[in-house]
Amino acid sequence: NDRNAKYKRILLKLSGEALMGELDFGIDPKVLDRMALEIGQLVGIGVQVGLVIGGGNLFRGAALSAAGMDRVTGDHMGMLATVMNGLAMRDALERASIRSRVMSAIPMSGVVEHYDRRTAIRYLTSGDVVIFSAGTGNPFFTTDSAACLRGIEIDANVVIKATKVDGVYDCDPVKHPNAVKYDRLDYDAVLDQKLGVMDLTAICLVRDHDMPVRVFDMTKPGALLNLVMGGKEGTLIDR
Ligand code: UDP
Repeated sequence: NDRNAKYKRILLKLSGEALMGELDFGIDPKVLDRMALEIGQLVGIGVQVGLVIGGGNLFRGAALSAAGMDRVTGDHMGMLATVMNGLAMRDALERASIRSRVMSAIPMSGVVEHYDRRTAIRYLTSGDVVIFSAGTGNPFFTTDSAACLRGIEIDANVVIKATKVDGVYDCDPVKHPNAVKYDRLDYDAVLDQKLGVMDLTAICLVRDHDMPVRVFDMTKPGALLNLVMGGKEGTLIDR
């Protein structure tokens, strides 16, 4: 039952890099299995889960472009990378007996379903995890923007961004041991202080639509469930 969960429907954003684990490139199946279990805990208490997965473990348009490739072609490759990650995640979820669907912003008949908002909401309502792949379907955007966009479209209660640090700090906590963590920030503070939580497009989108965002550390076992139960994990960004 979902009586105790704080959120009924969430949009969870996982970076592609999170899927690499200790590897330098690609997908570590052990990491996927662990994430599938954590997501399964949410489904088990009746929380509806939409997922957006990045592609940075495989390709990033900006990096390919810096190496000489046409930017739009690079972005297309980046979006296709998110579909591969989505397929891998669906596989891990299904192996853990968690029903899931992959939808793609770019039609890919025979491989995944084309994204359709009303169908996605129907799947979510019936308890399936829905993986929104291929980002927004457009070059020059990021999967953070895609996560915010889909979160708003499906009327999620919150967009949850999984990272390797437990929230937003005033400076990079890896480089500065005295960095101070924020428990809560408003959208304008993120923009004004250039905190680099997400790109500007994504932050402006959530600000315009009053969608709360929570940034937390997914490498911490149990943190996701705790967060969804209303626990204080990471940093909350809202109005
Ligand atoms: N991308 C894009 N449009 C989108 C989302 C993603 O063109 O709407 C491309 C872009 O090249 C990006 C790559 O896909 O670099 C992978 O996404 P992202 O960098 O956001 O992945 P993450 O950093 O979360 O792993």
